[in-house]
Amino acid sequence: LFSRKGNKQGNAILTERSKIYAKGMKIWVSDRQDVWNVATIIDTMKDTRIIIKYQDGVESVITSKPDYPLLYGENDYENICDLCELNPLHEATVLESLRIRYKAGLCYTKAGITLLAINPFTELPHLYSAKKVKLYNNNCIKNKPPHVFAVAEQAHCNLKRQLGHVNQSVIVSGESGAGKTWTARCVMRYLATTAVSAEGFSPCSKICRIEKRILNSNPILEAFGNAGTTKNSNSSRFGKYIQLQLNRSNYIIGASIKTYLLEKTRVVRQGIGERNFHIFYQMLQGCSDEDRDQWGITETTEYHYLSRCEDYQHTNELDSDTLDTTKSAMHSVGLSQRQQNCIFQLLCGILYIGNIVFITDEELSSVPCDVDEYDLDCQLTIEKSSSLLGIDHNELLQCLTIRRITASHSRRKSVFMKPCSQVECVTRRDCLAKLLYSRLFNWLVEFINKNTSAHANSCHSFIGILDVYGFESFTNNSLEQLCINYANEKLQQHFVSHFLKAEQEEYKKESISWTYFNFTDNRPCLELLEGKISVFSLMTEECRLNRASDVRGFTDRVHNTLRGSAISKPHISVTTPAFVIAHFAGQVTYQTDSLIEKNKDSIPDELVELVKNSNNRFISEIFSSYSVDIQDDMSGSCKKGKQSDVTVVSKFKTSLDQLMAILNCTTPHYIRCIKPNNNCQPDLFNNQQVVDQLQACGVLETVNISKMGFPTRLTYADFIARYKVIVNTSESEQLNGMGLVTAIMESVFDEEDKENDSMTAQYGKMKIFLREGQLDQLESVRAKL
Ligand code: ATP
Ligand code: MG
Repeated sequence: LFSRKGNKQGNAILTERSKIYAKGMKIWVSDRQDVWNVATIIDTMKDTRIIIKYQDGVESVITSKPDYPLLYGENDYENICDLCELNPLHEATVLESLRIRYKAGLCYTKAGITLLAINPFTELPHLYSAKKVKLYNNNCIKNKPPHVFAVAEQAHCNLKRQLGHVNQSVIVSGESGAGKTWTARCVMRYLATTAVSAEGFSPCSKICRIEKRILNSNPILEAFGNAGTTKNSNSSRFGKYIQLQLNRSNYIIGASIKTYLLEKTRVVRQGIGERNFHIFYQMLQGCSDEDRDQWGITETTEYHYLSRCEDYQHTNELDSDTLDTTKSAMHSVGLSQRQQNCIFQLLCGILYIGNIVFITDEELSSVPCDVDEYDLDCQLTIEKSSSLLGIDHNELLQCLTIRRITASHSRRKSVFMKPCSQVECVTRRDCLAKLLYSRLFNWLVEFINKNTSAHANSCHSFIGILDVYGFESFTNNSLEQLCINYANEKLQQHFVSHFLKAEQEEYKKESISWTYFNFTDNRPCLELLEGKISVFSLMTEECRLNRASDVRGFTDRVHNTLRGSAISKPHISVTTPAFVIAHFAGQVTYQTDSLIEKNKDSIPDELVELVKNSNNRFISEIFSSYSVDIQDDMSGSCKKGKQSDVTVVSKFKTSLDQLMAILNCTTPHYIRCIKPNNNCQPDLFNNQQVVDQLQACGVLETVNISKMGFPTRLTYADFIARYKVIVNTSESEQLNGMGLVTAIMESVFDEEDKENDSMTAQYGKMKIFLREGQLDQLESVRAKL
C-alpha cells in the first residue's frame, strides 16, 4: 500500500483496475520533481496508455502498467486532523494533506499515535496563546485540533488516571532545525501553567518559583549549549532529557535534567559560517564597560576561537538582549552575582587561552617553555589568561609545552618530561579550553538540578521530555555525527519496538485478530554500530592499542570485519579513508582520520591538576568533583575500568542505555518535527524534503498500524476497577469478570458501532483492546455520573 510504486496486486485485479480509468478523472502521478503531482486524464488508449494533463497544462502519456496510477480520491485535506482518516491512505495523499494544512497555517497533524509538527519558521502567537492553553487544559482532547498542548495534556491525563505506566515521556525527534527544542519548550510551558496547584499561580508561593526556575533553565542551557550552525541558527549541541517531577496530587514540584554529549570541540573550532556557543557572543556584545575593564576584553578584540564567524558582531543582533535574558535566568535559578561574574571571567579566560600562539625553537624542534622567550604580545596573552583562570603563568606555559610521561617498571614508577612540538602544544591548549568549558557546562547543569529537583520522597511520578540532536549528515562526518546518529538509531529502535513490534506481538499473545505485515527494523544497523563485533568494538580495540593512529589500517579492518549490507565503501573516491553507514534516515559517510583520537579524548593529568589547583575559588570548586574516569561528557556514571576502555563512545553508550531503560518504563508520546524546507523560510513546503523525512521515520507505517490497531489496551482488572461505576451497583454486584466487562462496554457503545468492524473493541486473554476514541467515550460517560 505504501510503496511509492503503488499496490502490488495480482494481474487480474490490475486488468480490472485499468478499466476504471476514464476521461476527466484525477490521478496521482509520480514522474516529476514534485514527488507527487495531480493530473487529469484526457484520454485512455486501447492498450495501457493514458494521456494526462498536469495542473500546469503540460500533457504527457503514462502507462497503467505495471503499476496502476492512484486515483486522486476525495478528501477534505485541510480538515483532516489525523492522517489515518485519509482515503486512500497513501504517500501522495499524506503529502497533499500536510501541504494543504501547512499552507493554511495548520502545522500540527496527527499520524495515528504520533503528532507531526511542521515548522512554520514564523511566530504564530495565536497558536500558543493563553486561550489555546485553556482549550486543552482539563478537557477531553479527542475532538480538539491536534496540537503539542494536546500531547502534553494527554501525558498529564494519563498520570492522573494512573493507567498503564505511571510515568510518561514525550519524545521529540526530527532533523536539525525541525523544531524539537521549540516543541519541548512548548510542552514544558504548557505543563508549568496547567500542572500546578491553584496556589501555584500566586506570585509569592514556592510552587510558582519552582516553575519559573524550571522554565528558566532553558535560556541558560541554550546560551551555553546551543550555537548557530549552517542548518539552524539556534542548534542544540547537546541532548537533554528533562523530568518534570510531580507529587501525589499530580502537581509539578521540581525538575531534573540529564544532558548528553555536549559538542565541546565547538569551543575551539567551528565549521565555515558556523558560530561558537551563543554565550561568548552574548557576553562580548552585552557586558558592561566595567566588566570589560575588569576582564580586559573589548568588542573588537580578535579571538581566535571566534574567528570562523568573521562578522560575529553582526550575525545576531539580539545577542546583547539575550545576555539580559540569560543573566536574569541565571539569577532565577539561584546563581549569585559572584558566581555569574566567575562564570563570565572563566569564559574570558577560555577566549584568551585560544589566543596563545606557540613559537618554535628551530634547533630543538620543540616549543620553549619559558615565558620570557615569547614576544610581548604573547606574554601578555599568557599572563591575561592565567590571571583570569587563577593559575601561575609559568605553570600554565609549562603544562602546555611539556608532556609528563609516567612509566611503570615492576614496582617503580618513573616520570619523564618531554617537550612538545608546536602541533602538540596547540592540541594541549585546545584540550584545556574544552576541559574548562565542558566542566563549566556540566557544573551549571548540576547547579540547576540542585536548585530545581524535588526531594525524592515527595516525587510521585514524572513526565520526561526528550530533546536530542536530530540525524546529521554533512560532507565531513566524524565522531560527533557517529554518536548523534547512533542516538537517533536507538530512539528509532525504541519507536519501532514500542509501537510496531510490541503492538503486533501483543496482539498475537492475546490472540487478537490482526493483519501482520513487515516493517523496517533498524536492528541490523544498531548491531553494526554497537554489537559484539561492531564499529564501536573495533574503535575500542584501536584505542586500547595505545599507539599512533593507523587510520588506513583501521578503516580496512572496519571494511573487512564488518562487510555487509549496512556498511560500505564510499562510492566516489574520497581523499581521506572513510566508511558509509546506511542509517534508517539515510546514508552517511564517516571520515576515519580523527575518529580514534577523538574517541580517546585523552586529557593529560597535568592539565587537570593545573585547574584543580587554581587559586580561583570558583574554578577549583567546579573541578572538585571532577573525576578522570567520568571525564566530562556524560552525566551518567561510568564503570571503573581500564582507562583506555573508557572512551567517548563507551561513555555515551552507557548514558544512552540508561536513558533507554528509563524510557522503557514510561508511556511514550511521540512528536515528530518536520522541516518543510532547508532555507528556514516560512510558507515554503518542499515535497521531496518532507517525504524523505516521513519515510525516514516510518510515519506512513505508523499511520497504518494506528488506523487498523488498538491504541488503548487495559488489563481486565484495571478496566473493571475504573469503569465498573458505569453500570448500576446491583448489576455490577451480580456480574463478575468478563460479564462485567461486556456490560460496561454495552452500556457505553451502541449496537450500531458493533456492526462496524473498525469500531469493535477486541477481547484478548488478559486485556481489552480499545479502538481509537473509545477510551475517551468511556471517560466521558464516567465523568458524567
Ligand atoms: P537542532 O537539532 O539543530 O537543535 P531543533 O529541531 O531543536 O534543531 P529548533 O531550534 O527547535 O530546531 O527550531 C529551529 C527554529 O525554527 C527555531 O529557532 C524557530 O525560529 C523556528 N521554529 C520551530 N518551531 C516553531 C514554531 N512552532 N513556531 C515558530 N517558529 C518555530
Ligand atoms: Mg534543538
